[in-house]
Amino acid sequence: MKAVKGTRDILPPASDVWIRVEAVAREVFRTFNYHEIRTPIFEETALFARSVGEDTDIVGKEMYTWEDRDGTSLTLRPEATASVMRAYIEHRLDQIPGIKKFYYIGPMFRRERPQKGRYRQFYQIGAEAIGSESPIVDAEVIEMVVELLNRAGLTGFHLILNSVGCSTCRPKFMAALKEKLAGIAPKLCEDCQRRATTNPLRVLDCKVPDDQAAIDTLPSILDHLCEDCHAHFRVVQEHLGERGIAFEIRPRLVRGLDYYMRTTFEITHGALGAQNAVLGGGRYDGLAESLGSRVPAPGIGFSIGEDRLVMSVEETHPGAHEPAVDVFLAPLGDVAEKHAGALAAELRAAGVSVERSVDRKLKRALETANKMGARFALIIGDNEIAAGTYLMKDMASGDQVSLSREALAAHIQKN
Ligand SMILES: [Zn+2]
Ligand SMILES: [Zn+2]
Repeated sequence: MKAVKGTRDILPPASDVWIRVEAVAREVFRTFNYHEIRTPIFEETALFARSVGEDTDIVGKEMYTWEDRDGTSLTLRPEATASVMRAYIEHRLDQIPGIKKFYYIGPMFRRERPQKGRYRQFYQIGAEAIGSESPIVDAEVIEMVVELLNRAGLTGFHLILNSVGCSTCRPKFMAALKEKLAGIAPKLCEDCQRRATTNPLRVLDCKVPDDQAAIDTLPSILDHLCEDCHAHFRVVQEHLGERGIAFEIRPRLVRGLDYYMRTTFEITHGALGAQNAVLGGGRYDGLAESLGSRVPAPGIGFSIGEDRLVMSVEETHPGAHEPAVDVFLAPLGDVAEKHAGALAAELRAAGVSVERSVDRKLKRALETANKMGARFALIIGDNEIAAGTYLMKDMASGDQVSLSREALAAHIQKN
């Protein structure tokens, strides 16, 4: 039996990098006053059809959908924003004062063509700030993401920013786009020809090299922004500038999801190649209404592709996993084995990671300690127990020191 195509096992020591990235994320979220929301892994299919959009690739061909025994159509979540907004509406969270800030970490499911850094069960770390249209919230969300990537140890990433307008100005842009597209579409790739009628914004997203020159001649959303959108976008940029956060404005940056409005952003990283963003995000002021909410719930969020973030961190810092076990206990004989149990409990209580040998031959025990990459080995024999002092071997240098029971944990922690 093998793992299903497009899925994978995340094994130690690689899983240590995942844990570290997630711990950093939780800590950054906490300092920005975001709190975790855990939504179900599957929802009614209609939720994603309405929020993600019927004519997107995600809904059209990538979702894992099945009919439940009672006939309900259910789907494994392809992303989490829809679920967060569903929960927000269902639990009337709009009635709580202030901006509601949530984060999530977990698996998402899309039946994409497997390739480097893309999986059918993939993981996202994301956040949503719901309840304000303020551009200051947008700038702070972006600041938070940059902080998160910095602290995760990612270097050399690149922030790309755009505004995709609002329901006032985007229709005019779409009309101009469609008009111009009608002329050039036949010269574009097959996907673009289809998108020209189904989802013209997505043409701007095309990565086919031969299409680029023609696509660059299409109208720019930035020339079509209304007064409000223009002012909104300017404030976002001012606040980012104030925080010293570098960005590049790219008018062709759009999102495949229909509910995105105004601020849209993406962060790319060299290790992944130009096509692969580590994260994407943006404002979705119309989403709540499109899910049937009578109360508007303007929001902004992002989701980081955790698989790709971990891959980038690993490429930037090879061997970034946690160190191996702190101390390997090598007891010699029955009495020592029980004594080792007591010592292990004391050391673990002090925060030291401990592995106990089940091999009574000292030489073999030390070989195992070495193979495991243990930092120290502690030899426990009858003499040591009687004297109350133990021989601690530094596995890297080979040095040995004699320590009292009380001094063991402190020695491991300070070396
Ligand atoms: Zn507008
Ligand atoms: Zn194309």
